[in-house]
Amino acid sequence: MSFKELKLSSEILESIEKKGYDEASPIQKKAIPLILAGHDLLAGAQTGTGKTAAFSLPILDKMNTSKVVGEKRKIRTLIITPTRELAIQVAENIKVYGANLHFKTETIFGGANINAQKSKLRRGIDIVVATPGRLLDHLQHQTINLKNVETFVLDEADRMLDMGFIKDLEKIINHLPKVKQTLLFSATFPKEIKSLANSLLQNPKEVQIAERNAVADKVTQCVYPVDKERKAALLGHLIKKENWYQVLVFTRTKRGADKLTKVLKKLDIKADAFHGNKSQGARTKALENFKAEKTQVLVATDIAARGIDITLLPQVVNYDLPYLPEDYIHRIGRTARAGKEGRAISLVSADEVKMLHTIEKLLKFTLTRNTIEGFEPTQELKVVPSRPKSNRRKRGNKNRSFNSQNKKHWKEGSSNPRVQSNTRRKK
Ligand code: AMP
Repeated sequence: MSFKELKLSSEILESIEKKGYDEASPIQKKAIPLILAGHDLLAGAQTGTGKTAAFSLPILDKMNTSKVVGEKRKIRTLIITPTRELAIQVAENIKVYGANLHFKTETIFGGANINAQKSKLRRGIDIVVATPGRLLDHLQHQTINLKNVETFVLDEADRMLDMGFIKDLEKIINHLPKVKQTLLFSATFPKEIKSLANSLLQNPKEVQIAERNAVADKVTQCVYPVDKERKAALLGHLIKKENWYQVLVFTRTKRGADKLTKVLKKLDIKADAFHGNKSQGARTKALENFKAEKTQVLVATDIAARGIDITLLPQVVNYDLPYLPEDYIHRIGRTARAGKEGRAISLVSADEVKMLHTIEKLLKFTLTRNTIEGFEPTQELKVVPSRPKSNRRKRGNKNRSFNSQNKKHWKEGSSNPRVQSNTRRKK
């Protein structure tokens, strides 16, 4: 379906064409008409599906057709994202899509100068993209007025829950007008998000995008079994041998990210760490250098990397496997975005075999194992034998952290992988 068929205004269509989008993505096809018609929306869509345009385009269109004239700019759209990086990206996209319109879009997030934000707010903004903490600061200091918000977007609501922002969100919501259009985007729907949606949305329309195949099938994935202490050397070897020029590497901890960055630098590989202990300036710079291919490797933790959108990122490496199998999907979703091909490899040591097995259960297939000469593991990745049905519950209880996460997901019969794993477990 073309964007023209979605009845967007000519100014917006022109920007979309300039951006090079030919066809609307599935979430865009479903969500845009509903948003234009004024419905509240509960959308199940992960990053990488084109969800930003799915809400930004109709919001801009509606703001354009119902112009408020003659007065100072007032905040008409408020978008809340879990991370600063995502806020920057969303705002950048809105500026591109709205290049032919005359709306002012600004970001509000912590780590940036609050006085500069205050003066921007005083001058007037039409669209604010904010993270919860700093937005709340402004509300408490009465330096922001949300009384004129017409459209409120919660982006990546499940991530906000993971990051402990739910209480902040509830406080923010109290400052919004009763009558407004609310759009809630989330990849999963744990019970806290479901109850937030129930209290926030009025007669919402629901759209759900099947994600498993969209992400997992376009990414070529494989596992390199390797001894723990040889992981860094193997990574260095692969980067050099295969001439990887832009590789996003995931570690589980911030310390791990710093340590690996140091080792890679010693191997003459241009690398930067990217995590929550870095200042906002350092993170922005690291991301800019990586995007511009001035650094080859960005070593990131899960939370920090959330929402990073690098067009054509060819390569993702799981240096450590994530504790939560859902994070594996998030990580590999950084590559193969917007219909492009990508590769994701995981360096897996014997102590991570359980995590690997849980990921494969979620994916519903076994990842290909490859070994590199000189890096063969001394300890094999033993396959965990599948057990007879009667024992399954017992085993599930042992694996408590994974279970408690998945219990939260509620949509049965959905094609979302997280949801499927939950449905299976219930049987
Ligand atoms: P998002 O899910 O919003 O993070 O978008 C993921 C990527 O898809 C971004 O790089 C967008 O620029 C790109 N994108 C969004 N919509 C389309 C489309 N209709 N056609 C091609 N690329 C798109």
